[in-house]
Amino acid sequence: MMGLRIGCHLSSAKGFLAMAQTADRIGAGTFQFFTRNPRGGAAKEWRPEDVEAMRSFCREKDIAKPLAHAPYTLNVCAAQPRVREFALETFTDDLRRLQMIPEAMYNFHPGSHVGQGAEAGIALIADTLNRVLREEQTATVLLETMAGKGSEVGRSFEELRQIIERVELSQKLGVCLDTCHVWDGGYDIAEHLDETLEEFDRVVGLERLQAVHLNDSMNPCGSHKDRHQKIGQGCIGREAFERIINHPALRALPFYLETPNELEGYQEEIRMLKGLYRE
Ligand code: FE
Ligand code: FE
Ligand code: ZN
Repeated sequence: MMGLRIGCHLSSAKGFLAMAQTADRIGAGTFQFFTRNPRGGAAKEWRPEDVEAMRSFCREKDIAKPLAHAPYTLNVCAAQPRVREFALETFTDDLRRLQMIPEAMYNFHPGSHVGQGAEAGIALIADTLNRVLREEQTATVLLETMAGKGSEVGRSFEELRQIIERVELSQKLGVCLDTCHVWDGGYDIAEHLDETLEEFDRVVGLERLQAVHLNDSMNPCGSHKDRHQKIGQGCIGREAFERIINHPALRALPFYLETPNELEGYQEEIRMLKGLYRE
């Protein structure tokens, strides 16, 4: 496809086909959805007819790269073994379901070490990945870059590398760069985008970068707050987003908005960003 591949987070409450139709209606070329209720708990089984209807609709409309997001409460490096066990079951079950959508990727938050220290957190995350990843799985699993709120692991590129290098089937792993999170984590992507991406390449490798969460931030660089803002209305600013979506290392990646918007607002942002994209 030509042009900017951009979409947003959508609700899957009305089913897969309805979600893809919504994406099409607001001019999105991709979309993100939660695999289950974000607060966790048992997920309804996906209906194969609904999933297939979505997939054929997407092929017809050039909607691609659906991104499945794990529930944000999933914490594979929790201190309590019961919480970790639940996270492992959820992760395994999500990867099993995602075999129905072979073109989908799976994004998750590395987790919060809750006082055990980043080192212990990293070891637990890698251990979980070594238990859930399978040679035959279709979904690439993306570690999301985090803002470093509380005890979040994944606030630096080094932490992501330390996880990846401990995972046996690391060919199944990639990274999703969240612009609000890296900014809040201390990477100045507004004034130093090139340097930040060079650093990412040096530490993690740009070939791991598979997706971008496009969010402005309500707070200054390094604030570790994780409060998303509409594109151009936060501290990162519109000009920085114009550079981000056009950057040679990023421009071919799928972009997902997670900005505080209803559908109309998303439609407007998608239109605005397409206007800033240089063909
Ligand atoms: Fe996320
Ligand atoms: Fe995100
Ligand atoms: Zn966030």
